[in-house]
Amino acid sequence: MCTISGVSTAGVPAKCIIPETIFMTELTESVTRMMREFEKLPGIGKKSAEQIAYHLLKIDKDKALALADAIRNVKEKVRYCSECYNLAEENTCDICKDSRRDTALLCVVEQSRDLISLEQTGIYNGLYHVLLGRIAPLDQVGPDQLTIGALVHRVKKGQFKEIVMATNPTVEGDGTALFIMNQLEGIPVKITRLARGITTGNDLKYANKEMLSDALLERQAVRND
Ligand SMILES: [Zn+2]
Repeated sequence: MCTISGVSTAGVPAKCIIPETIFMTELTESVTRMMREFEKLPGIGKKSAEQIAYHLLKIDKDKALALADAIRNVKEKVRYCSECYNLAEENTCDICKDSRRDTALLCVVEQSRDLISLEQTGIYNGLYHVLLGRIAPLDQVGPDQLTIGALVHRVKKGQFKEIVMATNPTVEGDGTALFIMNQLEGIPVKITRLARGITTGNDLKYANKEMLSDALLERQAVRND
């Protein structure tokens, strides 16, 4: 006898049918635990967490476990590139390993997703440095929690002729760019900033390809070497 739904469908034992709506009090400990984990994800509220949980309960075991495997694989294999802090599956990322890249040009971005947005324009051929965030005093994020020290170390080696500051055009992004420029004081290198084709206050990840291409092509010198 079915204790979950009491619903019977022709040819399918009632106990195999998972109902559309299950009250939280009827959920098993495992299902509740899974929902709680989904709720911790950005942009996933209680309702979405329930929908994803129900979906996973209904689909084949193989399909559900493929998701678990994909998460495990990423967490075990993906790391930060030892040179630029982009995401990598080896010691250095594909961009740092690419010999066709202009190694005299360095673009500084906040996150790997900004790097991907710039790569999608297809017009930038230099190297990158990913800060892994931005200076944000209100969120207790200081310069020491970013990769600014490693950036200064890279620039001091003298390989780069131009540093493109591509932090987001926000108060925090601008503040971070200014802080870095101060750290690079005395090092003979040209520093440019993305043109303001991107609306102030917007993140690079929301800018379209054309806007980002213009911002790159029309970048302005903020300090010459
Ligand atoms: Zn790299």
